[in-house]
Amino acid sequence: MIMGSVRLVLFGPPGAGKGTQALYLRDYLNVPHISSGDLFRYHLQQKTPLGIQASEYINKGLLVPDNVTIEIVLDKLLDLHPTDGFLLDGFPRTEYQARILSEKLTTKSKDIDKVIYIDVPITELVRRLSNRYICSDCQAPLQLNPSEPKICSLCGGELYQRSDDNTDSVNTRLDVYQRETIPVLDFYRSQDLVITIDGTGPIDCINKRVQRHIETWLTQ
Ligand code: AMP
Repeated sequence: MIMGSVRLVLFGPPGAGKGTQALYLRDYLNVPHISSGDLFRYHLQQKTPLGIQASEYINKGLLVPDNVTIEIVLDKLLDLHPTDGFLLDGFPRTEYQARILSEKLTTKSKDIDKVIYIDVPITELVRRLSNRYICSDCQAPLQLNPSEPKICSLCGGELYQRSDDNTDSVNTRLDVYQRETIPVLDFYRSQDLVITIDGTGPIDCINKRVQRHIETWLTQ
């Protein structure tokens, strides 16, 4: 496997640290990072019709309908060269999305190579999501105590809290994850594609775990 051509899905519940790992993996593997949540937030900021439509679902913690989501993500993916790698973050989140993704990839180019599943217990997710801030410049997700200054430690940008990181939306998102997204894991497990990583502990340790697992896989 050549760096730059690896095709990964980063999978896990909301708050598992997918965004944090994505920034690290994107540089380590030299592949573009495609985040469905970031794509929706971009449309929301630009107030496009798609962004306005999606915001109704996002603010309630619900999934945006499959047809809209698939279109926006595949549009980015199928623009890539058939042998280019990528890192998908937040997509697929329903079994239907996963099936369509495989179908489109195998007709246009090669399918995904592995699914990196970041496993974190629910109680830890609730704590992380309520302390999560996002940098308005570099989009890095950071954990902060409420009394700390809302400045990004990576680039100095201003930090904000996502509108869907409130208690009601968080509970809904975790329910939706259990109900609609866990079947995606079963779909990929049946194809023997899943690498499970313990997503608890300091970020540095999780980075190292991810890197170790990927190195082992790449050198097999
Ligand atoms: P995220 O940043 O990945 O947590 O996504 C934020 C929100 O965008 C989610 O709570 C959903 O409302 C929506 N979203 C992101 N990805 C998807 C997807 N694959 N399917 C449906 N909705 C999505």
